[in-house]
Parts: sequence; C-alpha cells; structure tokens
Amino acid sequence: GVNVKGLLKRNWLLIATVLSVLIGVSLGVVVREYASLSQLDKQYFGFPGEILMRMLKLVILPLIISSMITGVAALDSEVSGKIGLRAVVYYFSTTIIAVILGIILVVTIKPGVSQEADHIDRTGTTPNVTTADTLLDLLRNMFPENLVQACFQQYKTKRKELEPVKVLTNTTTIPPLGTTIATVIENITKEYKIVGEYSDGINVLGLIVFCVAFGLVIGKMGEKGRILLEFFDAMNEATMKLVHIIMCYMPFGILFLIAAKIIEVEDWEIFKKMGLYMVTVLSGLAIHATICLPLIFFIIVRKNPYTFTLGMAQALVTALMISSSSATLPVTFRCAEENNRIDKRITRFVLPVGATINMDGTALYEAVAAIFIAQLNDYPLDVGQIVTISITATVASIGAAGVPNAGLVTMVIVLTAVGLPANDVTLIVAVDWLLDRFRTMINVLGDAYGAGIVQKLSKRELERMDLSSDVDVANP
Ligand code: ASP
Repeated sequence: GVNVKGLLKRNWLLIATVLSVLIGVSLGVVVREYASLSQLDKQYFGFPGEILMRMLKLVILPLIISSMITGVAALDSEVSGKIGLRAVVYYFSTTIIAVILGIILVVTIKPGVSQEADHIDRTGTTPNVTTADTLLDLLRNMFPENLVQACFQQYKTKRKELEPVKVLTNTTTIPPLGTTIATVIENITKEYKIVGEYSDGINVLGLIVFCVAFGLVIGKMGEKGRILLEFFDAMNEATMKLVHIIMCYMPFGILFLIAAKIIEVEDWEIFKKMGLYMVTVLSGLAIHATICLPLIFFIIVRKNPYTFTLGMAQALVTALMISSSSATLPVTFRCAEENNRIDKRITRFVLPVGATINMDGTALYEAVAAIFIAQLNDYPLDVGQIVTISITATVASIGAAGVPNAGLVTMVIVLTAVGLPANDVTLIVAVDWLLDRFRTMINVLGDAYGAGIVQKLSKRELERMDLSSDVDVANP
C-alpha cells in the first residue's frame, strides 16, 4: 500500500502551505462578513503576511548575486554561451506560443464584444510611458551606473509636460497705421521633456548583467579566481539555508496575506462584469500550463511533465499568493534543485534570468487584454495589427519586472502600438490583482520547465565537465 505517513512527512510544508491558503481564504470571507474592521484594523490584520514578503524580498539580493556569479564561473565560457543560447531560444519560443494561444482564445471567445467600454468604470491613473521609453529603460537598467544603487533602485523614464509654446499665427498689416497686429494664440500641441528618475525596487536585470560579466572573468582567472568562486558558492549555500527557514514561516504568513487581501477588496461586482474576459485569460493560462509546456517538456526530456509540475508545487502556490516572480525565486530554486533534481550549474544560471525576462503568463495576458480592449471599443484589427500585438506583447513581457502588476504598466506598449488609447488600461485595472497572481504562477512554471529542458539539452557538456574537473565547486 501507499506509505501515507512517509508521504505526509516528506510533503508537510507543501501540505501546510496549501492548507493555510484554504484557511486564509475562509478566514477572510468570515471576517469580511461578520466583522466590520476599520481601515487601520485591516492593515494590522495583514501584518504576518507583510513580514513574509519582507523576508522573501530580503534574500533576493544575496541569492541572485551568488547564484549568477557561481553559475557562470563554474562553466567555461563556451559552455555557458551554449546554455545561455538554449535558454534564450526556449524563453522566446514558449513566450510566442503563449501569445498565439491567447490571441486564438480571445478572438474566438470575444469577451469584449457583448459589452461596451462605458459600462466598466475607469479607475486608476495611466502610466505615462511609450514603447521607446520602455525599451530604452530596459537597456539603461542593464548597465547600472552604480552597483549599490542597483540593489534597491531602478531607472524609470518620466515625461514632464512643458509649458505650452506661444506662437504667432495671424499677422495682418493695417495700411493706414502701418502697424502689424499680431494675434497670439497658444499652441495646443503638448511638448514633453524626458526626465530620468529612479524608483524603488531591485534592478535585477542590471545585477544579472554585472554578475554574468563578473562570473565570466572569475572563471578565466585560474587559481586566484577560485577564491572568489568559493566565497560566492558558500554565500549561495548559506542563503539557501536561510530560504529554508523562511519557507517554514511561510504557511503562517500566507494565511494572513490572503485573508487580508480578501478583506481589503472592495468591488466584487466587477468580477461579474468582467467574467468572460477573466475566463479567457485563465483558460489560456491553464492550457499553456497543462498542455503546451508539458508537451514541449515531454518531447525533449522524455519524463513525466506532471511529476515535474508537482515538484514545483510549493513555488507555484507561493507565486499565486504573492504575485511576484522575483520574490518567488528563492522557493523556485529550492523546488527545482531539491524536488526536481536539476543540476545547480543550470538552475543558478538559468532561473534568475528566467524570473526576469521569461514571462509566458504575462505575454499571454497582454495579448488577450489588448484585443479585449479593442473589442470593447469596437475597434477592428487587421492581420498586421494582430501580428504587431503578438510582437509587442512579447516585448512587453520581457520588459515587465517580476513584481506585482508590472504587466499592467508595460501594457501601454501594446495598446499604443496598434493605436488604442493608452488610457484604456484603466478598464482592466480592477481585476488585475487576481489575474496577476495566476499569470505569475505560469511565469514561474515556465522558468522551471526551462531549467529542466536546458539541463537535458546540455547533458553532454555537463558530463564532459564532470570528467575533466576533479573538484566541482558548484556541485560538490
Ligand atoms: N507579477 C508578474 C510577475 O512577477 C508580472 C506581471 O505583472 O505580469 O511575474
């Protein structure tokens, strides 16, 4: 028979986490129903969850730095180039598949056709950016000007409206007087100036670029480089031990995190109005996670993909609860290495990059949302525009940071590319907190599958390295 006790013992943390989600949801519903909490009370209620978020964010920095540097330095540059290329090809192709899936669903289900845009409240403010600005910011952030600052701030372009320019438009000369009467009117075209600003949040991309370069150099330095490699390797091991401690606190934190969220949400009616749109996004995510990704995984790795998914369960629940790929990263690491036994040389190299640029869920969501908004506005899209949407949705997902609601901000790229009003993002803001959780979960799953697939594709190189080096720092 099945060894129930052993099963429980091995999976107690996962079981506790799932239970705490269920208890948290019920607690939230009950408190919402029977207690009338003040704004302040609500905030206090979420306190244990707040502490969990703080701890998870705390370990991101040492984790990314130590894993990227050791990940790159442990491979020789030719091998890391190959692995990197494979990862990028995987990221790109799966993201495109997600986008196409989303487009197929939204044009067949047509969630925006039956209702009109004015029936949905427009809430929130529009982020003030353009495609070019977002792309330039991505590049700027890849090259941080200050390493310490990159640990807590990112560059973000802001546009400042300039004073309207006064122009002389109408000049008439009245003969007898010989004077010129000039009518001065204000030019109505607005002028902007770009102002660079820094905003809070780790510049993960910048740190990754630096650590890759640093790791490559260390790898080539021979004996001297070894000291640094061993230092960062020890740092990584210590950080992962901390992650384990944090994970033990997780069930408690999550319980209050989700309960507080349920108490806080004001408008539940909106879910009825936006029902079909949400069904479209969610079914797209579900199909991608249960059919597309597993199929690719099975074709390449030849192992049961669902066992693999199950191994990632703790990370998936975490992503669902905190809607941030980068804050989930510590848990993603543990699941991939401990449960799915992926080589540390692969995870360290591939997972942080994946959490930053590989977002299948976000890409799918961006494509669906853009076409949904077009449908609401009765705005016909031709094939060229649909292609534009698929390309910009991919770019927007790469540009989105792994933090809550990032996809909503980069959404502007997709809308403006096809001539839809950027302001219309406000139509989908109200339900974004929920969709964000599910797309983050798919983002994390995509990263994990990527690590599994890249490991399989790189098997030969890894084995050759095992033979040629006597002591292996990354995998002792
Ligand atoms: N919250 C998502 C993530 O962290 C990004 C998004 O908003 O789509 O992966």
